[in-house]
Amino acid sequence: MKILHVSAECYPVAKAGGLGDVVGALPRFQAELGHDSGVVMPMYRTPFLYANDWLVVHKASTNLGHWWFEYTVIKEKTDKQGFSLYLLDINGLLDREKVYGYEDDTERFMAFQVAMVHWLNTWEQLPDVVHVHDHHTALIPFMMQHSYAYQRLAGVPSVLTIHNAQYQGSFGWDKTIYLPHWDSWKRGLLEWEGQINPLASGIKCAWKVTTVSQTYLQELRYMSNGLEAIFEYEQGKCIGILNGIDFKVWNPESDQYLKNHFTPETLEAGKKANKLLICNQFNLDPDKPLFIFIGRLVGEKGADLLPNVIRDAFRFIGRSMNFLILGSGEKQVEDELSHLKVISQGDYNTYIGYNETLSHIMYAGADFLLMPSRVEPCGLNQLYALRYGTIPVVRKTGGLKDTVIDIGNSGGYGINFEQVSVGDITHAIYRALELYRDIGTFRSLKKKIMQLDFSWNKSATDYIDLYQSFQ
Ligand code: ADP
Repeated sequence: MKILHVSAECYPVAKAGGLGDVVGALPRFQAELGHDSGVVMPMYRTPFLYANDWLVVHKASTNLGHWWFEYTVIKEKTDKQGFSLYLLDINGLLDREKVYGYEDDTERFMAFQVAMVHWLNTWEQLPDVVHVHDHHTALIPFMMQHSYAYQRLAGVPSVLTIHNAQYQGSFGWDKTIYLPHWDSWKRGLLEWEGQINPLASGIKCAWKVTTVSQTYLQELRYMSNGLEAIFEYEQGKCIGILNGIDFKVWNPESDQYLKNHFTPETLEAGKKANKLLICNQFNLDPDKPLFIFIGRLVGEKGADLLPNVIRDAFRFIGRSMNFLILGSGEKQVEDELSHLKVISQGDYNTYIGYNETLSHIMYAGADFLLMPSRVEPCGLNQLYALRYGTIPVVRKTGGLKDTVIDIGNSGGYGINFEQVSVGDITHAIYRALELYRDIGTFRSLKKKIMQLDFSWNKSATDYIDLYQSFQ
């Protein structure tokens, strides 16, 4: 099959979170299954762009409302990612250092989608499926079906994967001219709560909709930032497919970011060496268990509770553990976590920012990973932690519920808690410390979790089965 993914992120070209990891891996696994898969994404000014060789494959001009612009599509020459990688360049609009966070993000991603569909319409052999990801690309199914100029694309199946329904990309009707001339009878397919809502439109127009875990799909029907009714109504075309992890990138035996590699057989020495490295760098005590948090410092991840959790853990459990936080996000949470350093007695530290290398060393060196998420569509961190022999301590929600079984249950290997509350999280830390002290069980669990299979093999096949249902 010919599969074209369209996304705002793709690791290692540009990544801001899990979306990048997924779009960097899934197409390669699809190619390994014998399919012709490709990714098209905006051309940002990231190091990957300058480190690789590119071919110009298309140049044209189109319009975003009254603004005419030129765009260029370039392709990485050697397909070194294992699939065809295309970058779409719109001078002055997309070619910036960050993926998101600009005032004109609506215009940037609208222009990207408009140019993408314009280019696709010139393809001699159309793809068997166009697979779009999250709200930045979710208006493509509408344009393919209802823009007059693109009627040739109306029969091409489309799939929307929702990696995070909190962000929907809504904008006002004054920007309706951004969409290439469309059948105005179809207004209802763009609209949600008085605005143009790209994610809602994608759910209405895509042939199939997937979410990145089954539990998250169920949760969206009663908690999806205003889209509950659509998920209820469209449930017949929605399915949950769990993300996998890329074992080539995330493998403690060969991880390019690690100096101290390890296998399930050498895990004790390997993890110890990585822990020592982190503890020396962050002035922590390597003889105490190390709890880490890695991720966006936002309410969705429960990051706002971390300062009180750490204070309470020290106060009520004692100073018998270390905490290290890596992340960036809401200024207030960043500041609180930074200020908390004053209470450290060589047992707390934080790194505010994005640091891929450090994240890998932390997964490798830690004893426990904390994930007190309010919402977690799939969650990749807990899967990386498992792979690196680090026990996940997670709230029972979304993909966390689907991937981490509590040690209290048969076959369990992680720690679950129910509520996003300081009390519940602190209690989970207490349970983790009990496990840590039970040396034999702790060792055998670490060895066991490293061998769990959360690879892409099954999920990549599930997506192919979904596409084949269109034929
Ligand atoms: P999200 O909702 O942010 O997409 P996921 O769990 O799906 O959450 O994916 C998060 C990914 O981003 C993981 O690969 C994680 O290691 C990485 N990550 C998040 N924040 C940081 C950071 N500050 N530094 C390095 N990596 C990070």
